[in-house]
Amino acid sequence: MKNTIKPKVAFFDFTSCEGCQLTVIDALQTYPELLEVVDIVEFREAMSERSDSYDIAFIEGSCSRASDEARLQDIRERAGIVVALGACAHLGGVNAIRNRQNLDEVRQYVYGGYADWFDAYEARAIGDLIEVDAIIPGCPIDRYEFLQAVKALMQGRSPEPPDYPVCIECKLDENVCVYQRGHVCLGPITRAGCKAICPAYGMSCDGCRGLIPFPKIESLKQVMVEHGLNPHEVDSKLTLFMTNQALDLVQEENAHVS
Ligand code: SF4
Ligand code: SF4
Ligand code: SF4
Repeated sequence: MKNTIKPKVAFFDFTSCEGCQLTVIDALQTYPELLEVVDIVEFREAMSERSDSYDIAFIEGSCSRASDEARLQDIRERAGIVVALGACAHLGGVNAIRNRQNLDEVRQYVYGGYADWFDAYEARAIGDLIEVDAIIPGCPIDRYEFLQAVKALMQGRSPEPPDYPVCIECKLDENVCVYQRGHVCLGPITRAGCKAICPAYGMSCDGCRGLIPFPKIESLKQVMVEHGLNPHEVDSKLTLFMTNQALDLVQEENAHVS
């Protein structure tokens, strides 16, 4: 790729644990050839240089306060392509758990007497604020999927994560279904692409990659109740990562039925 103009790439973080950026650093160590095809101009977690000019912006983290909005808009205006990096950016992620509770009480619980100092509000996916061109799902993202996404973008394509459920990958891997061991799992409604890594290690899927199109949420809720969960536990399970997605859909389904 010598003598070729490389696209300028920048990484930004909002409300997040920065685990997805760490996975990117891990991916760059695993696949150092990536650095031959892109020019990273800003990446706070890995370098001190900054830039106001970039072609592709990878954004980690959810929008969780009013002051995030102008910064997100600014990134959108500067970047040709915006990619939501990980569940926080893609879905609101674990930050959105608080959306189910009274936000004043949440602020009081976290910040105590300093609650008024912080403008935290409902955590939202960045796609709720700005146009997003592509997503890399997961908590954290999968490093190989990141590599594939960069490759697709370099070829002028949009990365397309699978639209089928984790159960497909799980069955192809010949894992024993955790339901057969008395546990519950969100694999039937969750987007695949992680190689069913949690069931592969005997854990249930918690839905970190978001919902598939047309998920049968009510049916899965019924199955989880039949496996011993009470309605509160079912809601907790569904809203660990997918508060915004799952609750919106349940409200839509309820409105449809009534
Ligand atoms: S998606 Fe998960 S790993 Fe990535 S920043 Fe959010 S909490 Fe961290
Ligand atoms: S363990 Fe989960 S992902 Fe695997 S087949 Fe069972 S329900 Fe589906
Ligand atoms: S199995 Fe589910 S929770 Fe685990 S990484 Fe895959 S999508 Fe996320």
